[in-house]
Amino acid sequence: MSAHLKIKRRFRGIKMFCPKCGKENPNDALFCLNCGERLEKVEVVDAEVVDDIPADKPQEEAKCWKMFAKAGRIVGIVAIATCWIPYCFTLSFSIHGIVASALGKKSVDKTADQEATTGLTLNILASVLSITSCIIWTIIFAIIAAASNR
Ligand SMILES: [Zn+2]
Repeated sequence: MSAHLKIKRRFRGIKMFCPKCGKENPNDALFCLNCGERLEKVEVVDAEVVDDIPADKPQEEAKCWKMFAKAGRIVGIVAIATCWIPYCFTLSFSIHGIVASALGKKSVDKTADQEATTGLTLNILASVLSITSCIIWTIIFAIIAAASNR
């Protein structure tokens, strides 16, 4: 009974970490259970655990926001160019463009941020213009229809 308690306490008090892979091992282990590295008796009371974040991950994320900024601006230009066409799909374009530009604004890159701002402005403008154009074309077609019925 008392022997059992002693063992428990000893296991809790001493922590062994592999010098190669950092895996915690039982304190009587000679080799790492994870990688097989030979273990030296090193007592660690407070072990610091550092998360291993791959260095390329933030860069990939940054590239992603840059792509959204670029795409948002291209969509904005297309939306502005097409918003006067009667009942064009401009509104659907520009709504996607607004979303892409808003995501592009997450980029810390200055050029990408400017592109995203331009995209956002163009897409909002195109949305308003395409709705206005829809109303104007409806009025024009109504007048033409009324005139031809006479
Ligand atoms: Zn190891």
